[in-house]
Amino acid sequence: MSRYWSALVGTLDPYVPGEQPKVSNLVKLNTNEHPLGPSPLALEAMHRSVDESLRLYPDPASDQLRQAIARHHGVGVDQIFVGNGSDEVLAHVFQGLLKHENAPLRFPDISYSFYPVYCGLFDIPFEKIPLDASFRIRASDYVGEATGAKSGPIIFPNPNAPTGIALALNDVETIVRANPQAVVVVDEAYVDFGAESAVALVNTYPNLLTVHTLSKSRSLAGLRVGYAIGQADLIQALDRVKNCFNSYPVDRIAQAGAAAAIDDEAYFAQASQYVIDERNRLTTALEELGFDVLPSSANFVFARHASIPGAQIAEFLRERHVLVRHFQKPRIENFLRISIGTSEQSAVLLAALKDLTV
Ligand SMILES: *Cc1c(COP(=O)(O)O)cnc(C)c1O
Repeated sequence: MSRYWSALVGTLDPYVPGEQPKVSNLVKLNTNEHPLGPSPLALEAMHRSVDESLRLYPDPASDQLRQAIARHHGVGVDQIFVGNGSDEVLAHVFQGLLKHENAPLRFPDISYSFYPVYCGLFDIPFEKIPLDASFRIRASDYVGEATGAKSGPIIFPNPNAPTGIALALNDVETIVRANPQAVVVVDEAYVDFGAESAVALVNTYPNLLTVHTLSKSRSLAGLRVGYAIGQADLIQALDRVKNCFNSYPVDRIAQAGAAAAIDDEAYFAQASQYVIDERNRLTTALEELGFDVLPSSANFVFARHASIPGAQIAEFLRERHVLVRHFQKPRIENFLRISIGTSEQSAVLLAALKDLTV
């Protein structure tokens, strides 16, 4: 606390990202990065964009990138907003669409831990809705009287993080349909690894917004590009916030690389399938070692051992140079979130766990 700080800054409880250690011989399974590289066509496009044109500002509207996204999802260009990573897109969403005085924002008690952080930064009232006993979102908890809330806006990831569990599209639709007076945001950071996207519903429901990132399934966490899809008036709200914050959130190199990555459907399909196959193999192997693994539709698994505490396993793995994510939080303190790596990385992880569990 410094006397130079604003009153707000002193009260903030900032998000703590997974570690990005500088040492090289690590099996890094703690931040859900893709184990394979980005599309080679995306890398080429970025190399090509490094020239004297960098003296110019980028296109503030990212038109070429938004066209690529529109083609991929089969929606209009005016239905797309892009930003510097989906965390920035989410920040604008919280400020522009989820802040309402008498209607608290609702999200699951176990969910992306950035949500309460944005609520603190933007002074948004919120209410956490508990997941059920099997760590699932229950659509009925967000419908009518069941909520006890004044029907404020809603946000949840699908698949949820850090559980990895997907909500079926008809359950998503139930929540969206039951809350026509408020925006429902579906954070689809992991949707490409096996869940059903709610983009199919945006033209039916004016209160639905989906948020996406190139950090996970496009293997471009280092590029910082994310986007939102919804009806045009929701997108206009985000544009208004953005143009009060930073007119040029996506640089020239990122616009070129992201558009090429979105266009490379073949690489995307193959790289996503690699992760899905590897996840299924890892799940079986973990179960054989005595782990309870939640059914994942993401690029990570959330697992707890029958008898060994989560913190102890995370510490043991760290000594073996394997990093996984452990959250010291109620209900999930014995779980580990393990990102899906290459098959070689899975082999190192499993060998270490075998030494611990036998
Ligand atoms: C990773 C993640 C994001 C943020 O992605 P960036 O585009 O890298 O900022 C957003 N939401 C969820 C649920 C995530 O897991």
